[in-house]
Amino acid sequence: MKTLQRDSLNERKDSSMKTLQHDNLIAGEWKKGASYSPNINPSNLADVVAEYTQGDAGDVDAAVAAATAAFPAWATGSIQARSDALDKIGTEILARRDELGTLLSREEGKTKPEGIGEVTRAGQIFKFFAGECLRLSGELLPSVRPGISVEITREPVGVVGLITPWNFPMAIPAWKSAPALAFGNCVILKPADIVPASAWALAEIISRSGIPAGVFNLVMGRGSVIGDAMVRHAGVHAISFTGSVGVGQRIAEACVQGHKKVQLEMGGKNPQVVLDDADLGKAVELSVQSAFYATGQRCTAASRLIVTEGIYSKFIDAVERRMAKLTVGDALAQGTDIGPVSSQSQLEQDLSYIEIGQREGATLAVGGERLTRATEGFFMAPALFSESSASMRINREEIFGPVASVIRVKDYDEALATANDTAFGLSAGIATTSLKHATHFKRHCQAGMVMVNLPTAGVDYHVPFGGRKGSSYGPREQGRYAQEFFTTVKTAYTDPN
Ligand code: NAD
Repeated sequence: MKTLQRDSLNERKDSSMKTLQHDNLIAGEWKKGASYSPNINPSNLADVVAEYTQGDAGDVDAAVAAATAAFPAWATGSIQARSDALDKIGTEILARRDELGTLLSREEGKTKPEGIGEVTRAGQIFKFFAGECLRLSGELLPSVRPGISVEITREPVGVVGLITPWNFPMAIPAWKSAPALAFGNCVILKPADIVPASAWALAEIISRSGIPAGVFNLVMGRGSVIGDAMVRHAGVHAISFTGSVGVGQRIAEACVQGHKKVQLEMGGKNPQVVLDDADLGKAVELSVQSAFYATGQRCTAASRLIVTEGIYSKFIDAVERRMAKLTVGDALAQGTDIGPVSSQSQLEQDLSYIEIGQREGATLAVGGERLTRATEGFFMAPALFSESSASMRINREEIFGPVASVIRVKDYDEALATANDTAFGLSAGIATTSLKHATHFKRHCQAGMVMVNLPTAGVDYHVPFGGRKGSSYGPREQGRYAQEFFTTVKTAYTDPN
């Protein structure tokens, strides 16, 4: 079988632009799309990371054909070979974590330590699934009919389309690709348009891992073109999507029409509850981290700080003091706590919600303005609203930037009701020293992930990830629960006589 090789043409320099150009990976070869698009550093708009090709529906057809051809051998092939390849990918990612983390921060805008942390997580995920593909188990049951046995086994789904957002350009492609490959599926990855560099680097590593040609394909380009073609293609059996609610809903509808398995991870409006009995220093630190680190651009970021009245004023004063110490600047500069917003349109959205919050009557306690730095970039001062109410748009709609609002509540019961008063349900946190309230909150908050005295963002790589209500649809991602989506169950009956 043909094995992928590094192709010197995959990093071509355009002589007039003096910019590296990167191509799609289809059937084990690097293929040029219809055009190229520059990947711009949000910390410095004069810095072009590289150019990435923009595919079209024909590239999706070619990738599906390659994946379909590769599937039978990959699905039934040696799990030792699969495990070795995934382990090799994880090893290389971890060995190159500084370089890849720097690239990630340069294209997305999270700080370099955050970029390196994300790359490390991607490497660990591949290592984890290198083991998981050896642990796929089934069941053998007696039949209700004497003498007959029943086997329940899991098989790969087939050709899977992976559509990923811009805010975790390496970790999300990794946490979808690794289980898909581990369980014997063939993959077409479509990364977010504005951050293709990390996904391309991942594809390049995968291309040298020993995985056969066509098993893993990368098709870059616009969501409305590549993503839509994948979702509607009859040769794609499942779609795993992470992104916004609107796009996710349209994808779900198309998948139902086309009888495809679908998994959606979407937005959040995550609550961080702070009770009177909380350790104030801890509550402030975890709230500031949850709300503003990674520029607030995490689906698990806390954007609603729900605070009981006995600690409310002290909490706001302490958060303001802590925010005054945050350094906003170039993602790659040493000492930066908060990098730029990822794009012009995201910055405009964030700033528009500052106006919306003020118009609705919330008090802008601190921040919320555009900042200038030595280089032109999308810098914004993290913003805190106080005296906000649960019905305001700033507390109901996902802003997806460094903007958080504080809601004052009477007691724990009102805090819990306010935390659950949202269309979303991804992550929820509580800061308290009360075992009774922590235990009750874990049980009764309507979220897929609950944090007690920990930030709402920041999760382990070996356990399930996902939410409920408007945040998620379909089986959980990550950990051993990932097999639920990336395999299909078969029940086999045998009469040995
Ligand atoms: P988005 O929905 O705009 O795009 C996500 C992906 O979908 C991109 O690759 C995009 O090109 C593609 N796409 C766009 N239109 C499409 C179409 N018509 N058909 C198929 N694909 C299409 O989201 P985004 O702005 O990249 O990411 C931000 C969103 O992602 C936020 O809402 C955030 O909460 C969410 N997110 C959720 C999680 C989670 O696990 N719950 C994690 C990270 C981000």
